[in-house]
Amino acid sequence: MSNNTRSSQVKTQAKFRNITLHFHNQGLRSYIEVDLCKECPRQDDKGCCAHYSPVFYPTDMAHLYIHEPGLIDLIFSREHITVLDTSVTVNHSIDGDSFRCSFHSKKSGCLLPQPMRESICRHFVCPGIAWWEESKLQPWKQFFDQLQSYEIELNNRIGQTLRTRGLTLRQPELRYSFLKEASKLYLEALRHPPSFYTQVPSHEIAYLKRELKYGQEWIL
Ligand code: SF4
Repeated sequence: MSNNTRSSQVKTQAKFRNITLHFHNQGLRSYIEVDLCKECPRQDDKGCCAHYSPVFYPTDMAHLYIHEPGLIDLIFSREHITVLDTSVTVNHSIDGDSFRCSFHSKKSGCLLPQPMRESICRHFVCPGIAWWEESKLQPWKQFFDQLQSYEIELNNRIGQTLRTRGLTLRQPELRYSFLKEASKLYLEALRHPPSFYTQVPSHEIAYLKRELKYGQEWIL
């Protein structure tokens, strides 16, 4: 084998990396952890969080209100927020030649604990990893697909009920009543979990090998 052939093989091998994913089934607070995020191939210290503005819906806000109400104050204290009747978007801000989520810190990544994030932030894994193509992970794909539909339907249902009770987040004086009522409806929904919750374990670790590309070539 010539030196050239050997060195080109080493280069090709160096592009491949073992990636560990942790799938957590926590019902409406389920999430996926990816070890690659710590050394994101985008190499811009913000990765996918450079392109997203988190949107908190009634189930998110109820969960935060019950478990860590200080985070509700943190959301409403952010400078650029869009408040609708039943949701709050924390808008990203300009950062260099792109953006940065308001909750993202260059040093430590997302400032929110994973179960406290909204659903895109809890479920998103970049297409370069494409875990959903693995046959052994199909139960998790079905789980997250169903969870997404269930969460949308539940948020719509809770939102509609709150609207009919005259509650809206747009009026600051009604926010406390909104959160209290949303929490009651959320807790009631938790008492009737959908059957697909039992299709996957509470935690599973998956190991994948993927070819990495760097900078803009790593698609988000
Ligand atoms: S809330 Fe956290 S995970 Fe979501 S975009 Fe912002 S920094 Fe990223």
